[in-house]
Amino acid sequence: MHEMSLAEGVLRIIEAQAREQDFTRVKTVRLELGQLSHAAPEALAFCYDAVVRGTVAEGSRLEIVRTPGQAQCLACDRTVALARRYDPCPHCGGHRLQVIAGEEMRVKELEVQ
Ligand SMILES: [Zn+2]
Repeated sequence: MHEMSLAEGVLRIIEAQAREQDFTRVKTVRLELGQLSHAAPEALAFCYDAVVRGTVAEGSRLEIVRTPGQAQCLACDRTVALARRYDPCPHCGGHRLQVIAGEEMRVKELEVQ
């Protein structure tokens, strides 16, 4: 499952931070997830709970913040907000859009003990 590998990626980031900053318990993880990402937040949260078992992040809360999608329209050359992949350009109705933001996933903040 795609979300499982993403959750494992999040855990690797947390564990690297734990080594670097010397903390032993994570309370909350704030994760930015682009609106155009293929990952489903519910599935990601479920997988996260499973992969953090027995680690510094066991029992922590995963807060997922959706970040907006953005694309460059190749027809009218504007940067437009994109709520869903394959939506047309809101200005010219064109379908040739190049996604420039909203696909990424990023650990924004860790609340630790
Ligand atoms: Zn356009």
